[in-house]
Amino acid sequence: MINMPIVRGEKLIESVDKFVNSLNKNDEVEKAIVYNPDGSVFIKERIGTKNYVEYAHEEYLQMRGKILIHNHVDTGDLTDRVLSPDDLHRATYYGMGKIQAITLNSSAAFSPGMILSGNVSMRDQFLKGYAKVFETGKAHVSELLGDEPSVAGAIQNTARNMSDYLKENQHKYGYRYDERGIFE
Ligand SMILES: [Zn+2]
Repeated sequence: MINMPIVRGEKLIESVDKFVNSLNKNDEVEKAIVYNPDGSVFIKERIGTKNYVEYAHEEYLQMRGKILIHNHVDTGDLTDRVLSPDDLHRATYYGMGKIQAITLNSSAAFSPGMILSGNVSMRDQFLKGYAKVFETGKAHVSELLGDEPSVAGAIQNTARNMSDYLKENQHKYGYRYDERGIFE
């Protein structure tokens, strides 16, 4: 398991490490946990399906400023190693402090900040931009189906484009993005 230097506060680092270390390479479902910024547990670990962990709208409403950590299962999908458009939608819409997706050897973490949590048109613009990169990649991948080596390359390229988008737009939209191990 890799370290998570982006998380601040000793108790929080400890808590996140504990969750990360509980993940197993054979996990076939997503697990998620929600922390308070001080590292105490806000919503205890929840087990989901291969693609998501479910929370009620009322629960999301309480996640303002909280830290949601979850794993992404290795399914061969475009978003195995990067944050999904849904991840970013929820993080910004509900004003989370941070959302972080973890695989066995990578981590991607996104903290929305004031602009994306408070300005609807900026948020829409940001989310549309990210969705466009994702949808373009997805269309390309489906054109290549049957040609597996090319599919793998197209998935990798799309993940890189998504990661680049998040790195390049931090200043414009005032969020923070940090990834480890995605392309190593
Ligand atoms: Zn996710």
